Amino acid sequence: MSKQTHSFQAEVAQLLHLVTHSLYSNPDIFLRELVSNASDACDKLRFEALNNAALYEDAPELQVRVAFDKAARTITITDNGIGMSAQEAIDHLGTIAKSGTRDFVSKLSGDQKSDAQLIGQFGVGFYSGFIVADRIVVESRRAGLPAAEGVRWSSGGSGDFEVEAIERAERGTSVILHLREDKTEYLNHWKLKTIIERYSDHISLPIRMQAEAWDAEKSEYVTKPEWETVNSANALWSRPKKDVSDEQYTEFYKTLSHDSEAPLAWSHNRVEGSTEYTQLLYIPAHAPHDLWNRDRKAGIKLYVKRVFIMDEAESLMPAYLRWVKGVVDSADLPLNVSRELLQESRDVRAIREGNTRRVLAMLDELSKDGEKYATFYAAFGAVLKEGLGEDFANRDKIAKLLRFASTTQTDTTALADYKARMKDGQKAIYYLTAETLAAARNSPQLELFRQKGIEVLLMADRVDEWALSFLTEFEGTPLQSVAKGAVDLGDLQDEAERKAAEEAAEGFKPVLEKLRESLKDKAKDVRVSSRLVDSPACLVVADGDYSLQLARLLKQAGQ
Ligand code: ADP
Ligand code: MG
Repeated sequence: MSKQTHSFQAEVAQLLHLVTHSLYSNPDIFLRELVSNASDACDKLRFEALNNAALYEDAPELQVRVAFDKAARTITITDNGIGMSAQEAIDHLGTIAKSGTRDFVSKLSGDQKSDAQLIGQFGVGFYSGFIVADRIVVESRRAGLPAAEGVRWSSGGSGDFEVEAIERAERGTSVILHLREDKTEYLNHWKLKTIIERYSDHISLPIRMQAEAWDAEKSEYVTKPEWETVNSANALWSRPKKDVSDEQYTEFYKTLSHDSEAPLAWSHNRVEGSTEYTQLLYIPAHAPHDLWNRDRKAGIKLYVKRVFIMDEAESLMPAYLRWVKGVVDSADLPLNVSRELLQESRDVRAIREGNTRRVLAMLDELSKDGEKYATFYAAFGAVLKEGLGEDFANRDKIAKLLRFASTTQTDTTALADYKARMKDGQKAIYYLTAETLAAARNSPQLELFRQKGIEVLLMADRVDEWALSFLTEFEGTPLQSVAKGAVDLGDLQDEAERKAAEEAAEGFKPVLEKLRESLKDKAKDVRVSSRLVDSPACLVVADGDYSLQLARLLKQAGQ
């Protein structure tokens, strides 16, 4: 193949422009991204080699090497992983395949400051090399292809890139960064080593650099020929908890999730019993941009005995916890397990249940910290409610974690706290759903409750109506919508009031008859109500019917 020039996909060009023109706040992350790609490539090789050991060729030990050359002003990151064919280099380094990334790019505003922030949150993978380099050359050969089918990809990071065939004996990939003039501080052993220790210590294969020694004659540090391992080189989750620092847990989370913000909480356990596995689960501090995408897969990576098996293992977490990030490493699953197989496996069911229990327990713990819990709830509270309809076994635990606005409280409240405030004789937890909280607060349905000083929970999340239909009671107390049927205030309504209401109804009989007749296509029934104090009339729905709010939603959805 002679040299060819290709254009970057429009989104890539946009991204590159941003990377190279925005003042990137943390240039160090280029190394984290490139080392993480090298490690991914080794994981992929190990996985493919399960069925084809020949792919290891004559180099079974997988590793990543980081080297620099002061004179040439380059940094080179080399792995002996899966490598890329020419076509793969064109596809993977010239386009953004992942829909998530494409969505992300479409969110870019053109405003450097806010975009830089967004990028910081997201991580730009391979293209982050252009933060420090004004030219990147990638030389690669895919495992299993002949030496003559190597490829050289090269780009200056503007509109296009070049691709040509090369001879390459070693399998795998070298990424050669030609540093920008103002980024030469990275041509330094200590600096690179520190960055690797900081961001990539948890990578499960050795990351090696050539040692340096002081040369007294030359009066400078010189690079020695030996390679030494600079990271701990064992999978973070396989280490005992006491050997992992908070900073290491946090860095691991950041690589795992492409999130620049630290997680709110994590939990790391070795689960023993009939199904044995290690789980390391994180609660992020903010929602991903595609949280509501129904195809969004779980954030769990599956390993079997430290061999990477798959990303986004949706069978390992129920959908309402799809935002949890983490790793599960199983000792029991076969290495060649497929997604289909996962769905059927009893071990997987046990792991999913164990993960669910663990996350709910973490949230229960987190709820003791008001501020952190508020952060969590703002991001994921609405998704959590889906669990009421999805996970019957854990419904009570989920209900305990929910928080609602209330007519009598300035802060949101838990159902348990509402119960503790209930009036003597009050038999139900009252709630009202509406399109917005403001609409709920102004609803005439609340008049009587206000007058009697009875607290009503106010709900305005889209899922509330649906989710609450699964929660008929909380710890023995029924939940009752104030917009449904006749409100029975039980003992809170005194006898005299009840009598007066009945007499009034009697006296209004002829009027009611007339109203029923003239509204017969529009209303099921017309009643005298004791629920209003100031307003003359209001609409309610019969018990068991869709509420007005749900009816409105269904109508919008064309049903
Ligand atoms: P991501 O790693 O999230 O997929 P990147 O931008 O970091 O995104 O990398 C894009 C793609 O380029 C990878 O998915 C992979 O297919 C390919 N790639 C990058 N670096 C390597 C490498 N060292 N070896 C093999 N393939 C690589
Ligand atoms: Mg990557």
